[in-house]
Formats: sequence, C-alpha cells, structure tokens
Amino acid sequence: MKTGQVTPFLVEILPLGGFDHPLTYGAQQSLYHAMQVGSLVRIPLGARRVIGVVSSLSPEHSPPREKLRFVSALVQPEPVLSMELVDLAKWVSSYYACSLENTLGAMIPASVRDGMNAKTRRMIEVVPVSDDQSAKLLSRSPKQAEAYQKLKQCEGKKMDAVEWEKKWKISPAVVDGLIQKGLVKQTVAEVEREAYADQWSEGSDETVESLRELTLEQQTAAGEILEDLNSQKFRARLLQGVTGSGKTEVYCQAMEHALGQGGGVLFLVPEVALAPQTVDRLRARFGKRGEQVVVWHSHLSAGERLDAWRNLVQGKARIVVGARSAVFAPVKNLRLVVVDEEHEPAYKQEDAPRYHGRDVAVYRAYLNQAVCLLGSATPSLETVRNVERAKYKRSTLTQRIDGRELPLVHLVDMRREALKQKIPPILSQPLIEALRKRYEDREQSILFLNRRGFNTTLFCTECGEVEQCRDCSIAMTYHRTDHYLHCHLCGYRRTAPQICGNCQSIEIRKKGHGTQRIEDIVESVMPKRARIVRVDADVMTKKNLFREILRDFRQGKIDVLVGTQMIAKGLDFPRVTLVGVIDADLPLRMEDFRASERAFQILVQVAGRAGRGERAGEVYVQTYAPHESCIQFARRAELDAFLEEELALRKELNYPPYRHLIRHVFRGRGEEKTRFYAEQWRRKLDISNLQGIEIKGPAATPLAKIKGYYRYHLFYLTPSVTNCLSQIQKIRRDFPIDKEIFDILDVDANQVS
Ligand code: ADP
Ligand code: ZN
Ligand code: ZN
Repeated sequence: MKTGQVTPFLVEILPLGGFDHPLTYGAQQSLYHAMQVGSLVRIPLGARRVIGVVSSLSPEHSPPREKLRFVSALVQPEPVLSMELVDLAKWVSSYYACSLENTLGAMIPASVRDGMNAKTRRMIEVVPVSDDQSAKLLSRSPKQAEAYQKLKQCEGKKMDAVEWEKKWKISPAVVDGLIQKGLVKQTVAEVEREAYADQWSEGSDETVESLRELTLEQQTAAGEILEDLNSQKFRARLLQGVTGSGKTEVYCQAMEHALGQGGGVLFLVPEVALAPQTVDRLRARFGKRGEQVVVWHSHLSAGERLDAWRNLVQGKARIVVGARSAVFAPVKNLRLVVVDEEHEPAYKQEDAPRYHGRDVAVYRAYLNQAVCLLGSATPSLETVRNVERAKYKRSTLTQRIDGRELPLVHLVDMRREALKQKIPPILSQPLIEALRKRYEDREQSILFLNRRGFNTTLFCTECGEVEQCRDCSIAMTYHRTDHYLHCHLCGYRRTAPQICGNCQSIEIRKKGHGTQRIEDIVESVMPKRARIVRVDADVMTKKNLFREILRDFRQGKIDVLVGTQMIAKGLDFPRVTLVGVIDADLPLRMEDFRASERAFQILVQVAGRAGRGERAGEVYVQTYAPHESCIQFARRAELDAFLEEELALRKELNYPPYRHLIRHVFRGRGEEKTRFYAEQWRRKLDISNLQGIEIKGPAATPLAKIKGYYRYHLFYLTPSVTNCLSQIQKIRRDFPIDKEIFDILDVDANQVS
C-alpha cells in the first residue's frame, strides 16, 4: 500500500457492471471528503476499471487490510442516485427478476454515467477604458477597432460571443485580439437546454390556464387528496373519473399542495408524444409561477437529459412530466406521484428491466412516504382490486364538466351490413350518413381504427401465399408511399415482389385496409371540399407534424381526423361531436385474457373524445360482435357492471388480479431445441414440490417466431411474486441449459403473445 501513514476511509460501492451487491473500497482523505452517497466513482474491478455508485460512507478508518483496493477517481460528486433511488433499484431488480446493473442502467442516463460536462458558452463584455487608451491600443488594427466600436454600444452587457460574432460577421480571431489587449473580458456561462420548450407548446391561447372554480365533485376529490398529502404518510388513491370530468384539474390542485409543502412532483403519462395537451397545461400552469417543468422523454439529447438531471438533483426543478422511465427521475423530496391513464399497457416495459411504471410509482411513493394518485376513466382490474382490498383509496368524478352528457353510442351490426352488400363494407351506411351530417353542420368527426388488423398485406390469389417476414411469423405490411413491405415487429423491409415467391404467379393482390385506405374511402363518400387528415405511426415519425395536425384540428381547419390509438385518448377538442369506431372487436379476436378489458377501455376512451364542448356527442361503433358483454357495457359506459363481471371471470380462472402472472419465455434459433428445453424445464418443476404456484405450459407463443427466434413460454400463477421467484430461481440455478437457448422471466406480464 502506498498510502503511507494515513489509514484510508472505507466506502461501499455498487459497481455498474457485473455485480449485484456493493463492494468495499478504500478512499483517500481528499476524495472521501468530496464524496456523497450516490456519487459516481471509477473503481478497479478485476482487471478492469468500471463506474460505480457510492452506496454508503463509513466514518471509520480502515483497519489495515491486505487486499483493499482504492477508488481511482470521482466522476460525479453530485449524487446521481439518492439512497431512496438505490433502494428503489434494489426492489425493482428483485421484484422484476433482473440484474441490479440492468436496473441502474435504466435509471441513470448514459450521459450522466459518462460524466459528461454541461455545455458552456463564452460570454464577452467590454472593459471600460478611456477613449485615448483604446485608440492607442487599436491604432494599427482597423478590424479590431471596428469591432470594438460595435461592442462599446452594448457597454455593461454580457453577450454570447458566438451569437455576437455571427450577427456582426466578425471573426473570433478579432475578438480574441481584443481580449488579449484587455479591452474585452470573457467569462463562461453554463447553458441550460430546457427540454423542447417550444416543441411542446401547441401555440394556441386556449392552453393558457386560468384558475377555475372547481365543481363540487372536484372539490371533494381534491380535499381527499390534500388530506392524504397532509398525513405525510404513504397513500395510494385511484381517481376514477369519467372522460371529461376534469381529472387534470384535480391533479393540478394536488400538485400545488405538494409544491406548497416544499415537495417535488412526478407526473407520468403513457407516452409524452400522445399527451401534448397535458404537457402544455402543466407548463402553462406551473411555468407561470416560475416552476421549471422538466419534460422527460426518449427524444431528449444526451445533453438535455444531463441538464434535466442536474436541475432535479440540485433542486432547481421540482416537477417532472414523462413516460414510464420518468418514474426514476431524481426528484428531490418527492411528495406526489401522479399516474395519468393508469390502465394503459404502455406503462409496462417490454425489455429488461421489465418493470411496470405504475407499480414502481406506487412503490416509490411508499419509499418516500408520499402520495400516489392513479387516474383513469377505465381503471385497470389490478387497481380496482387493490381498492377492494383497501390497499388503495378511491375518489370518483361521476359527472362531466358543465353537466355535459356522455355521448350516445350506437352499435352498428356489421354482420347485417355485410348481408346488404356483396363485399363487407369498410364504412357502414349509418356511419357514412352521420359523417356527412356533421360536415353539413360544420362539426368535426374522428374516425378511429384499431391498428392491428388494418395493415395491408400482399397475398397470392393463386396459391394463397401471404408475404411474411423472413424472421418473424407475421405477415408483412405493404406501404403505398414507398412500395415496400415492412415488418412491424423487427423493422425488416424489402421491395414488394411482382410475382409470388411460392408459385411464381403474377396474381398478387393487396388485402386489408390501412389508415391510408380508410382515408381514401372517407374522401370518396364525403363532399369534395371536406378536409380529411390521417394520423398514424408514419405521421408520428415526422417531428412536429402530429402537433401541427392537432393545432389545425383544434382551429377547425380539419373536418375528419382518421387515426389509430394515437387519437384515442387524452385529447380534448370541444368541436368534435362524432366518433366512429371501425373495428371495435378486434382486440377480442386476439389470444389474450385481457382482451375484454382492452376492448372495453378502448371503446370508452374513444367515445370519450366526443361531445366535450357545448354540443352533445354521438358515437358509431361498427362491430361483428354486438352481443359481447364488454361491448354492451362500453356502449352504456357501465364501468361498475363491467368490472363486476370481468372480476368474477378472472377470479374463477385464478387470473390476475387475483394471482400474479409470471411469464417464462424460452427462446432459441432452433425450434426443436427450444421446445426440448422448455419441456425439460416443466418436468423439472413437476418433480420439485413447488409451493403456491400454478404452472401452465410450455406452449409455442402465438407469434411463434420473432426476429429469427422460436419461442416457447410457461406461465406461473401465484399469490406472491417474491415467493414464486425465489423457488423458481433456485431451481433454475441447477438446471443445465444449452448456450444457444435463452430464457427470460416477465413478472406481471402484459404481453402474452
Ligand atoms: P379528463 O382528464 O377527466 O377527461 P379534463 O381534465 O381534460 O378531463 O377536463 C375536461 C375539460 O374541462 C377541459 O377542457 C378542462 O379545461 C375543463 N375543466 C376542468 N375542470 C373545470 C372546471 N372546474 N370548470 C370549467 N372547466 C373545467
Ligand atoms: Zn420481422
Ligand atoms: Zn402463389
């Protein structure tokens, strides 16, 4: 040891690479004093140097130790993780069966891990000297003299050097010359890149929030939440409010109270890009009073993310709005977590760590003795069950604002429509008539289609071959814009073939109707001057286009908006009085025990887009299964009746929310081998005397092959995730498995395909 007489301090460090538990290191005095719990350090680990997080500092000196290794450098003294977040990471990694490393990787942005510096810029200002003096210094440099004159006009002001040089077309060398002569002083300022300040503003004055008087129901709900906040204890509450009942206003009241208590707030939305109005409203409301609202989303540049991170860690910003990963944002003194549209499947992360954003939100609130508010018009069965078990409380908003009616829902029986014509129509006659009527009355309509099932595929009329992705067992989608076939699972694309790959016939036809096709059909049945605009995933890839479309729609420049789930929720357009749903029962045809729940949620949410203004709304739902109870319940917006029936069914089958569902997927390039190991594993489980686990499978997944991998899965139904995982993981350790077969556990799985 080269430390001489001074004995080192001991610190516990969690390496971000290959280790699941903290290791003890020594730290020299100066480093030790600059460190905090949560600082990022560089440490030797084996033969490598890796990044680690300080997880505890002990005030003790080390007794002399043989093999003590030393922290080599401090990468970020500011804590990148508070103890609270370290605890959260530990919980996420154990509950969702993923490595701590993986979890920390998802929690700490790459830019923070790399210790990237905040971007700085050079500021310049004139140094006041006498004219004589400056004239003397500049007599032989006319360019510098000219620049100096210009600068002098802004005496006493600091200016951004780059911008100033650009404006006056002056080269940086000239400015450098002035600095050398002592006529100009330069300083460095940190640049803050506030995330997309402009991009997220829809640019309409309607978004300016004025203080409103709360309705009685809103007051009651807000009062209940304020009590939760005042208790200074952990509380979780479902805010169940019909569409258009003013939930956002209640969230805002709660946020104000939490901020008033000196706390921070996390506001989660299923996807930021689909919630521009919510983001605008929060920005307008809290920005006005000087609160910085950090918008946390996947398009942030590394630098923007780092700045956002810093501002939160330093307590400069106290409000974060973002999608599921924002649940890990380092908000200080967290008092309130809002999860808007808590029922949305998008809260579940489908890659490791496979966490559920809503459930992590609840746990994080628990760790902080804070309040978690879950809002929805169509709450998930999991949350409703937690209310029944008195784990969560509930506040309800039963009325729309201003007593507006929920829209009238008509079911159009497509089986009967199909009988009237030779080919089943895409748009039924009643829906077409309703669309025309709205146009005549200068009102707006939304046409919604479930994306899946509306893809255009290529198939051969001779042999029936459907063009499939080479790596995934699904049909490829034909895009008219570029004449390519795209795989929506893996992104593979190729040009559309002219002849059938199977029988060489040239009789290749397009089948199905995408959003583009629907748009064409609507155009053909509507008067010439009607303006019809389509929103789908393609549109979303063009930055800002979605926002422009929403703005035009709001301003009445569009008559009919055609789109997929993007337009299904969260949007509030007062002039929309008609909503058409083109294939209501599609979710029912998929192999998923949550199918009814999804169909119900989507229908109620879409219907909720209608009649949010002065005039009542109407909804036409085209369906081949009008008798299905979830469709009937959705038609009458009977949430309680739906919940009762669906819960009874789930209970009978022992499905979530009565048991946790863990999915165990085996995947490999060889089909035989993959199935073999999945079956061997099942045999192993059968002789292992498991407690409290019901096992199903293995079975081939409905999409048997994805990205070139065959997949077999098993399901475990269990009352306790922790108990189930510890048994499974123990057996898994002694189960030899081929190197080419991978298995993953998905706790509280959403996807079952
Ligand atoms: P939800 O999220 O429950 O569907 P929103 O929060 O979007 O409903 O509110 C619906 C509409 O009612 C919005 O335009 C909102 O600005 C307005 N609103 C909310 N609360 C009030 C109130 N107390 N008085 C008047 N308008 C309100
Ligand atoms: Zn594919
Ligand atoms: Zn063919």
